[in-house]
Amino acid sequence: MRRIKPSPSTSAADRANELRRQGKSIVNLVVGEPDFDTPAHIRQAAAAAIERGATRYTLMAGTVELREAIVAKLQRENGLSYAMNEIIATSGAKSAIYNAFAVTLEPGDEVIIPAPYWVSYPDMVLACEGTPVTVACPEANGFKLTPAQLEAAITPRTRWLLINSPSNPTGASYTAAEYRALAEVLERHPQVMVMTDEIYEHIRFDGGALPHILGVAPSLRERTLIVNGVSKTYAMTGWRIGYAAGPVDLIKALDTLLSQSTGNCCSVSQAAAAAALNGDQAFVAESVAVYRQRRDRTLALVNDIPGLSCATPPGAFYLYINCGGLIGKTTPEGRQLREDGDVVMYLLESEGVAVVAGTAYGLSPYFRLSIATSLETLEEGCKRIARAVAALR
Ligand code: PLP
Repeated sequence: MRRIKPSPSTSAADRANELRRQGKSIVNLVVGEPDFDTPAHIRQAAAAAIERGATRYTLMAGTVELREAIVAKLQRENGLSYAMNEIIATSGAKSAIYNAFAVTLEPGDEVIIPAPYWVSYPDMVLACEGTPVTVACPEANGFKLTPAQLEAAITPRTRWLLINSPSNPTGASYTAAEYRALAEVLERHPQVMVMTDEIYEHIRFDGGALPHILGVAPSLRERTLIVNGVSKTYAMTGWRIGYAAGPVDLIKALDTLLSQSTGNCCSVSQAAAAAALNGDQAFVAESVAVYRQRRDRTLALVNDIPGLSCATPPGAFYLYINCGGLIGKTTPEGRQLREDGDVVMYLLESEGVAVVAGTAYGLSPYFRLSIATSLETLEEGCKRIARAVAALR
């Protein structure tokens, strides 16, 4: 346990809540979950599941109903064919990722993690006695891993490459050509497995179908683990349903470990997730339209603040804001801002705006602002950030 730390975004949210309890006016732009309610037809499917007695243990890998829904989803939306025994339902995508590391990593095995990354990846690897190998992917490269960087990061100890597209925190999304180029490198290194965290698959603003690495490089299928879930797409973060699709042996290993640890994921939530995947998809487009409006408005406000800049994220619901222009400036209290953590502290203490420092995501100087909150909250947050920045010397 000494190797790992609590999730920085959870800590930032806790700090903001504590200040709010003390009576401070806080604009919380930390949250990484949709602010919408789970759509009614999904809630009703859960209620019906309770009423029909679907309240017992299920098969470890998930109900047949849910796994059939996942099989159909992968075919329909990604053009990928998976059998039921190549799929396992987990308690959130988080559980799928963590347990995949737990069943594959030997001490010292390396996992390549492009930075900026979702805060939990390196700590999950460390918790499983692996070695996270983070690779800085600068804004100039669209926050994406290049084939040359991948080639340079691979060693005989490399076990996994982790790809998160669209990414938390930048929204960066790989194109088919970029996947092809990465796959060419991977084809030379058969010991490297590929984990694709696709949790933001549907939160996208650039239209068109999202390419899949297996669509352009089917040869990688037997060493790729697809991770996805219903949390972000259907506003179901609290239901805790994710899933993994991959080679039978790996899915079996996950099944064995989970059967001896958490057991199956919640039966009622599984019914709800099946309804989400099989049912009316109108909510997805409606919520994305709202996120897009918020993204555009907030981007305009942020890019108007001297010293801050933000590239347009093509997906996910965050802005990863470059605050390099504020580093070296001095607060009205006479403190110098030396790194993004200082900027974030200053915003919280001076104006009560809670965001997460780029250090948490492995690429500085930035901070992450979540747009999964109301337009009024976002406008108020930007007004306060502008005021705080204007007070710097
Ligand atoms: N992957 C990424 C990139 C995330 O941002 C999150 C949640 O913040 C997760 C996975 C976890 O998803 P779940 O709620 O399905 O565990």
